[in-house]
Amino acid sequence: MKTALVCGAGGFIGGHLVRRLKREGFWVRGVDLKFHEYSETEADDFVIADLRDPYTVRNVIDRRFDEVYQLAADMGGAGFIFTGENDADIMHNSATINLNVLDTAWKRNIKRIFYSSSACMYPAYNQEDPDNPNCAEDSAYPAAPDSEYGWEKLFSERLYLTYGRRRDMDTRVARYHNIFGPQGTWDGGREKAPAALCRKIARAKPVDTIEMWGDGLQTRSFLYVDECVEGTIRLTRSGVTVPVNIGSDEMVSINGLAGIIADIAGKKIDINHIPGPQGVRGRNSDNRLIREMLGWAPSQPLRAGLEKSYEWIEKQVMRNAA
Ligand code: NAD
Repeated sequence: MKTALVCGAGGFIGGHLVRRLKREGFWVRGVDLKFHEYSETEADDFVIADLRDPYTVRNVIDRRFDEVYQLAADMGGAGFIFTGENDADIMHNSATINLNVLDTAWKRNIKRIFYSSSACMYPAYNQEDPDNPNCAEDSAYPAAPDSEYGWEKLFSERLYLTYGRRRDMDTRVARYHNIFGPQGTWDGGREKAPAALCRKIARAKPVDTIEMWGDGLQTRSFLYVDECVEGTIRLTRSGVTVPVNIGSDEMVSINGLAGIIADIAGKKIDINHIPGPQGVRGRNSDNRLIREMLGWAPSQPLRAGLEKSYEWIEKQVMRNAA
């Protein structure tokens, strides 16, 4: 039986990845600081551990797993990564996790390891025009990420690539672009735009006004979590040794995103634009490389994923209100 380790298995994407690997028949160990908030884990073994501690990591990585997925990170949406308040934690915690997991995997002679980088590592100067952002993989340098979160991702993806080049590991690096879906953080300060808007609209009256950070003209693309997991697995098992975008190329403004969610909810929503952290003006996944390298790219329409996400968040809102 094949074995996999999922670091960050108590989190949003890690939780979905564990489920997928179990469906494929893997024996799965999950590790996280906490159990999954919204569902019972399907991992065969779930270890509560702090991956910042190298001794703990040695105990967690106690065998030669066939596949290791490193998704653990100190992260959140704009309200967490763009205020500056959490910068030291983000840099220290995530870099320490990445150093520990990769080096321990190498010492255990593990070959295949996946690392989840982020589109936040792309230079801010290429993302000033909301209609024409450039996020092609080869546009990464000269580096100028707009947040410390992005700088840490850039450092860590380079770290993983060096172990691929110099230490004979099959390291695979994805640059995720805004992943969303059920069973992700939707409240509490670390949530991202799709979840925050679903929550606000679920709580709104049939005709109501919600608040939004910024003018809403900034653009993004959002990838449904099932396609993120599909891309992650395809990339991990491929021979691709360079970082690859895993994202949707269906770009939408944040006002447009709110409009789709309001339509799904069947509510008439006005927007009150208020100051708040926003990140770059425009971002979209460039999927030419993934299509060329893997012969596959995400294709589900944004609305289809939002329908499933809204339904799930609406249930959480109603449960909390009860
Ligand atoms: P998440 O916050 O839901 O999951 C990350 C998990 O890591 C959390 O459960 C957290 O408890 C765990 N963790 C943090 N510090 C830890 C520690 N010291 N020891 C053990 N576990 C620890 O985030 P997610 O959305 O599932 O993201 C997974 C990965 O993908 C992260 O590396 C993130 O940076 C990256 N990513 C996500 C997105 C997105 O839109 N969700 C976009 C780009 C990149």
